[in-house]
Amino acid sequence: MSQTYDAIVVGAGITGASTAYHLKRGGMDKVALFERRRPAAGGTGKSAAIVRQHYSTALLARLTQESIGMFRDMPDEIGADSGYVRSGWCFLVPKPMIAAAGANVELLQSCGIDTRFLEPGEIADRMPWLNPHDVAGVVYEPEGGYADPVRTTEAYVKGFGDIGGSLHVNTPVRALLRAGDSVTGILTDDGPIEAGCVVNAAGPWSKHLAESAEIELDLRSVREQDTVWEARSDRPIPEISISNAVDAIYLRPLGQRRFVVGRGFPKDYIDVDPYNYKETADEDFVSDVQTRLEHRFPPFAGARRIDSYAALYDVTPDWYPFIGPRSGLSGYCDACGGSGHGFKIGAAIGRRLARWISENDVDEDFARLSYDRVAANEPFVGAYGGNRA
Ligand SMILES: Cc1cc2nc3c(=O)[nH]c(=O)nc-3n(C[C@H](O)[C@H](O)[C@H](O)COP(=O)(O)OP(=O)(O)OC[C@H]3O[C@@H](n4cnc5c(N)ncnc54)[C@H](O)[C@@H]3O)c2cc1C
Repeated sequence: MSQTYDAIVVGAGITGASTAYHLKRGGMDKVALFERRRPAAGGTGKSAAIVRQHYSTALLARLTQESIGMFRDMPDEIGADSGYVRSGWCFLVPKPMIAAAGANVELLQSCGIDTRFLEPGEIADRMPWLNPHDVAGVVYEPEGGYADPVRTTEAYVKGFGDIGGSLHVNTPVRALLRAGDSVTGILTDDGPIEAGCVVNAAGPWSKHLAESAEIELDLRSVREQDTVWEARSDRPIPEISISNAVDAIYLRPLGQRRFVVGRGFPKDYIDVDPYNYKETADEDFVSDVQTRLEHRFPPFAGARRIDSYAALYDVTPDWYPFIGPRSGLSGYCDACGGSGHGFKIGAAIGRRLARWISENDVDEDFARLSYDRVAANEPFVGAYGGNRA
């Protein structure tokens, strides 16, 4: 083989970029990051990048908490900005979900996370833009908000390069190389490259890559559409990120009265070929989102559509990512399956995965993210049922 690395990370989305940076920063000598296009070319680049710690397990809540700290430290540590805005986040809860939301709030408070239900009077005062009909409760989280997914990823890629990491953009990995129960490297158009460990952080394309070395990966690739709107009226508009489970939409500010708006659960998840899918949004989707938006947030009446597009979610059976090594296969780690919520946890996942790989240092609950849970039939179970983590 022509070259040898201690570790090769495939895919420069948020997960791969953070993993590569932290492997190198943790002292690993030869680390390479391979990206078939450019950093953040996958789901990361199209992410709404809403940041909230509201999860059903302490594990995911803590991963977001850690990522927020990492976003904040980024200017000092790397000399680049993540675009994190602590705008606050709120969750509009319908009646059938109110008990589960209350249990989550209690869990999160016990983890030291600042979150609570707003009082009815506060809702009216703080949310003059909200139509409260059918909203049974509003969960509020001041540390939530949003970040810039492209800037965050580019920051880790820059940091990786600054400390001597080997970056290969426009370089697709064609296959993983395997000898018996070991992954031994990768194959590019320039030939084979050996590595002590290969991290599969190729997002929705991870399944294809894994299968090139006969590694099973139960991962769906589904199309996710988003829209961008500019509110016209001079009436008050939200300044915070919102997950609205009453009308199944989410939105977050983009600045200049613009907002990213997408559809939340429940909705249809359509499987697509990640190498060949429609990247523009469907007109019926756009008008459906507009109707839901104007109904719940009346100041958006007459909002101007600025953009609409489709990208991909890489979805696991329990909507928790697959991270880390697997039993019975050396030289290989999964780092995929963000399942539509993987941006906010991606930075912390990369840091923890790097420690797992280089120092075999891993917390018990993080180790549960291994693909081994599929064989053990031990999926994570979210409080809201369905596909909500
Ligand atoms: C529209 C949309 C909205 C979202 N909103 C949110 C949100 O509000 N909050 C949140 O937390 N998450 C959100 N997500 C989910 C989140 O963005 C993703 O889970 C996360 O960004 C995935 O990052 P990743 O690095 O794992 O994968 P990706 O970003 O998909 O990166 C994979 C990379 O691998 C590269 N690659 C693929 N194959 C190869 C190969 N063979 N060789 C080399 N490189 C390869 C790709 O080009 C790509 O750059 C959203 C996702 C989408 C699509």
